[in-house]
Amino acid sequence: MTNNNGLTVITGPSGVGKGTLVRNLLEDRKDIWLSISATTRPPRDGEQDGKDYFFLNKKKFQDLVANDGFLEWAEFAGNFYGTPRSEVEKKLETGRKVLLEIELEGARQVRKSFPEGFQIFLAPPSFQELEKRIRGRATDSEESIKNRLIRANKELEAQREFDAIVVNDNLNIALLEIKKLI
Ligand code: 5GP
Repeated sequence: MTNNNGLTVITGPSGVGKGTLVRNLLEDRKDIWLSISATTRPPRDGEQDGKDYFFLNKKKFQDLVANDGFLEWAEFAGNFYGTPRSEVEKKLETGRKVLLEIELEGARQVRKSFPEGFQIFLAPPSFQELEKRIRGRATDSEESIKNRLIRANKELEAQREFDAIVVNDNLNIALLEIKKLI
């Protein structure tokens, strides 16, 4: 399957390394524009508003939902996350390659609105390894970790819905595979 409308989605369970991979990808692929999501989750240490996410309160998020301001949105581990619609549509109109790094429910919504988009699932080498990575990050509460592990199981079950599955065992190999796909 080919990537023919400029829109690529990367999904994968929390802790699989999507963030690191996407950062590395953007460093040498200036043709790709990464959408900045909005979230009601509090910022982690070092995260900046408008760079990592647009950090919104629930009311502001819900107003945007009501005004059709999101291309997709979902609840994840007790917080809301969404892709602001207008910037993505503008970039696609000018022919830019657009990348969304989102969770499963959002990916499913985008599949409906952009059936020609290309969807990549980033998988861990094993569930044990994923749990180790989530716990190793040590930035989330035990409750959030548990929620993320439950959610990870659900996401792993859905990987066959995607156009491509890339296993993130070795970062450089996964990166090469993704570069070939986009
Ligand atoms: P985190 O809290 O670890 O930054 O993100 C939690 C999950 O939300 C990750 O799987 C991430 O890909 C996903 N996510 C981030 N932004 C969005 C978004 O705009 N929409 C959806 N549906 N998921 C998102």
